[in-house]
Amino acid sequence: MEKPASSPGAIISGLLSPLFPVAIFLVFLGLAEGLRYGLVQQDRNLIEANLANEARALANHLEREFLVHSEAIRRMAKRLQADPSMTEREWRQDARNYLDDFGVYQAIEWIDRNFVIRWLEPVTDNEGVIGYNVAFNDERRQALELARQTGNWDLSGIIDLRQGGKGMVIYAPVGAGADNNGFIAGVFRMDVLARQLLTSRVLEFVRIEIRQAGTVRYMLNDSQSVNPDFAHSHPVNLPTLDWTLTLYPSQEWVENRYSSWPAMTFTTLLLMGLLTSLTALLVQLILKRNRTLLKTRRELDQEIEQRAAIQKDLARLESTDTLTGLANRRFFMEDLSHTLNIADRQMRQVALVMLDLDRFQTLNDSLGHQFGDELLIKVSERLNRLSDERILVAYSGGDEFMLCQQQVDDIDDIIHLLGQIKQCFDQPFDVQGQSHCITATLGVAVYPQSGLDADTLLRNADIALYRAKEQGRNTYQFYTEGMQEREVMRLELDKDLNQALANNEFVLYYQPQLNLDNGEILSVEALIRWQHPRRGLLPPVEFIPLAEESGRISDIGRWVVMAACRQLARWKGTPQEELRIAVNLSGRELDDEDLVDHIRDALATENVPAGRLEVELTEEIFVQNIEHNLNQLSRLHQLGVHLAIDDFGVGYSSLGYLRDFPVDLLKIDRSFITDVTERHDDAVITRAVINLAHNLGIQVVAEGVETEEQLSFLKNHRCNFAQGYLISRPIPVSDLEQALASGILVAGVTADSGL
Ligand code: C2E
Ligand code: CA
Ligand code: CA
Repeated sequence: MEKPASSPGAIISGLLSPLFPVAIFLVFLGLAEGLRYGLVQQDRNLIEANLANEARALANHLEREFLVHSEAIRRMAKRLQADPSMTEREWRQDARNYLDDFGVYQAIEWIDRNFVIRWLEPVTDNEGVIGYNVAFNDERRQALELARQTGNWDLSGIIDLRQGGKGMVIYAPVGAGADNNGFIAGVFRMDVLARQLLTSRVLEFVRIEIRQAGTVRYMLNDSQSVNPDFAHSHPVNLPTLDWTLTLYPSQEWVENRYSSWPAMTFTTLLLMGLLTSLTALLVQLILKRNRTLLKTRRELDQEIEQRAAIQKDLARLESTDTLTGLANRRFFMEDLSHTLNIADRQMRQVALVMLDLDRFQTLNDSLGHQFGDELLIKVSERLNRLSDERILVAYSGGDEFMLCQQQVDDIDDIIHLLGQIKQCFDQPFDVQGQSHCITATLGVAVYPQSGLDADTLLRNADIALYRAKEQGRNTYQFYTEGMQEREVMRLELDKDLNQALANNEFVLYYQPQLNLDNGEILSVEALIRWQHPRRGLLPPVEFIPLAEESGRISDIGRWVVMAACRQLARWKGTPQEELRIAVNLSGRELDDEDLVDHIRDALATENVPAGRLEVELTEEIFVQNIEHNLNQLSRLHQLGVHLAIDDFGVGYSSLGYLRDFPVDLLKIDRSFITDVTERHDDAVITRAVINLAHNLGIQVVAEGVETEEQLSFLKNHRCNFAQGYLISRPIPVSDLEQALASGILVAGVTADSGL
């Protein structure tokens, strides 16, 4: 929608309109024209005034001239009146004097009282008029009779002279009334008179019209070309005559009267107008160009702003993990470096917490990446609630998160944060319609004690995390000096693990399971040990997690199965021929599609019946990736291999899977057995598990049996088997064979427990 232009805006756009220079030009044109008109008008006025002056002067001159001539003629008349006996000769002499004096008359005449010309001077050129009656019409007659009567002089007006041409006659009566003796008349030729009256200068520039009672009677200089714009009339005051003198100036005279100012002024103003409008046009062009430049500048600014915004977005994207929406590792590290700089100046501590989700890899592998991603998002949401201006939460990748607490005054601040993190995992996570109890393990490094730069802090937090994991997960560990050595050791161990299989450094120890119904030992659990060339005998906790991480667990698992089968084969024909060996398989091994084939091959190679082999799997196998795992386990079961659930009771609340999976044995976790005689809860759970398993036709093993009390409790509640230090620690095969042969294993426990 068009915005109504504000008044300054309207003025500016008006000034920039192409009509503006035109308007300027028109204004100047108007001004020029006005001034020119004014100046021309002034000139005209001057010309008219000039003309009027000339006309007035001419009229006055004419009046005076006639007055002089009439006086002269009247004087002659008076002389003739005074001397009526004057002879023609004397009269002629008198007339000649006048003619000589004035030199303007055509003739001087004496006319008798009957109006007939009698005497005249000079005769030459005038002979034809002697005897002519001058009262040649009524008007003249009346005028002359009036003059004769009154004694006043009369002027004929312009008439056609008998001598030819136009002329005028002054009649001065000689005596009035009855004494009248005719008239003395002075005859003028108009052209002579006019030439006498007018200077040559005047004659050069005017045409003169003499009107008598409104009609033109005489025209002087009628060959003169005149300017039609100008004419001036002036009355001539003569007795008996109504005369008007009209002056028509010549074209040339008028032109000379006009000054060049109007034209100059007009041209100058016009040029000024042209210049001003051109200047305006130029200014407009400059302004428009400026405007365009400004507009371009504004557009550029906008573009720059947009780019900056995009860059900011990009920077945010670069610093954010797209899955979780948390800060990414790169941003976290940059921020950490920055934070450490500030902390250094303010002498403060900074805590870096590495967080690892327990068993995430297994969950992710078995339930799929979609599940893993959703879980990560849910965890991120909870952790992100902790972030504020002092705490930055970031996602590091995999199942790892990082938190940085920027202002740590004392250790309690960190403990408080760790508590808050733990709370994030108190409630189960709902993912894909199922709730999952997830725990996390934390490693903490504190600046400046645990490292002076971001990278060192991170590495040490990682080491601390690894330690915490070793301690059984769902816990935290602060980095300490000694950890560095242990970390080095761990890395070395990882390297050595490469060689271990090739060098045949693994051994199986065996821990017997006592049948509580008949006091016999019919199965043993094979527990792996690593005979390290420098470090001695290492328990599985030192290397199994490492092997699980690096993926070497599959090879180790195959070796264990093979070694167990080989042992079973060796026992053929010995007292241990009936023994069953239980091997531990971790979840990742079950992912291996070839696992079942491998076990079948191992059994076949050693020619061992499948029923002699038992596989122990932890509970998560039964709740994750169910379809795949059910298939694997069913195949194993079809093979005839026994299946046992290890560490039962710690991980999952769902027991539905017991119904679906072909399980033979259930191993109650040691944590229930340890306090089973002291803690009512543990006793209730243990009893319930035994009953449940029996109802489902599954046999029960109690792990970690260390006391006689525990043993008799289990026996009383009809637990099927007992395994633990009370019966035997895990021991090498030779010790086992010896112990079985001697019968001490059974004897030791059965004596007191009533078996
Ligand atoms: P697990 O399968 O629960 O094995 C039982 C562990 O409890 C053994 O530890 C055993 O020495 C210990 N134990 C037995 N009776 C008692 C007792 O009365 N008191 C106490 N405090 N402990 C007792 P070990 O041998 O260190 O094995 C630890 C874990 O390593 C095993 O736990 C198992 O999960 C894993 N493991 C052992 N061998 C293998 C193997 O060949 N493959 C795989 N994947 N894992 C193995
Ligand atoms: Ca086990
Ligand atoms: Ca166990």
